[in-house]
Amino acid sequence: MQLSADYHMHTPLCRHAVGEPVDYARRALEIGLTEIGFTDHSPMARDDFDDWRMKDSQLEEYVSKVRLAQRTHPQLTIRMGLEVDYLPGQEDWIRRLAARQPWDYFIGSVHYVSDTWDIDNPAKLSEWKKRDPYEVWSVYFERLAQAARSGLFQIIGHADLPKKFGIRPAQDCHPLYEEFINAAVEAGCAIELNTAGLRKECREIYPCPDLLKLARQKNVPITFGSDAHAPAEVGMNFAEAVALAHSVGYSECCRFNHGKRESVQF
Ligand SMILES: [Zn+2]
Ligand SMILES: [Zn+2]
Repeated sequence: MQLSADYHMHTPLCRHAVGEPVDYARRALEIGLTEIGFTDHSPMARDDFDDWRMKDSQLEEYVSKVRLAQRTHPQLTIRMGLEVDYLPGQEDWIRRLAARQPWDYFIGSVHYVSDTWDIDNPAKLSEWKKRDPYEVWSVYFERLAQAARSGLFQIIGHADLPKKFGIRPAQDCHPLYEEFINAAVEAGCAIELNTAGLRKECREIYPCPDLLKLARQKNVPITFGSDAHAPAEVGMNFAEAVALAHSVGYSECCRFNHGKRESVQF
């Protein structure tokens, strides 16, 4: 069986990943991948917004690092994208970002449920104690639906990120999932199966089987991503992700070339 493309990986420009794109590419070939895509954390309109992304002035450097990996690994298809933070009001900035390079795709991710709280940041774990988890999940999924509806993203990233630390609401989250999946259907965007969750306290792929089942029922396309922040993480746990996708009825995933989607069997 051919391994699926790994569409989610980072570079040291985001200040919390190690290894150059050429190293990720070498690792991808080692484990038998035929296609990967770089999606480092996008710059924000303000460079001092936080400290875990590239600066605006580094965008060209990022592109040349990816281009170098492409040139030195012609036997591997290497796509160029960004993991873009969605915050309401940032739409124009994201549109300008999209126009600056011939990107293959954008992963739209929600990390921030307010201008100051990135819910997956271990340094801000104490924020979770001040709030009811269901409230956080509600705001998160509302933003995620907005991100999907914006039409700015080909793929929505790690769709149930709030579970990262294993803190989960007692309430039924199905209505939240449904609102988001309906938005993804409306906008025609894909979601990713992100294996990084297996390496976090939640010990589960993003999204959970319930959310993925809903996506399958509504024919939402999928991609696979390791969210690698080091070359050794490329393609990590893809067998589990593929098994999960198969278990809910998926037999096709998608790839992107300059924003154009194509389905492939897996
Ligand atoms: Zn990261
Ligand atoms: Zn992310």
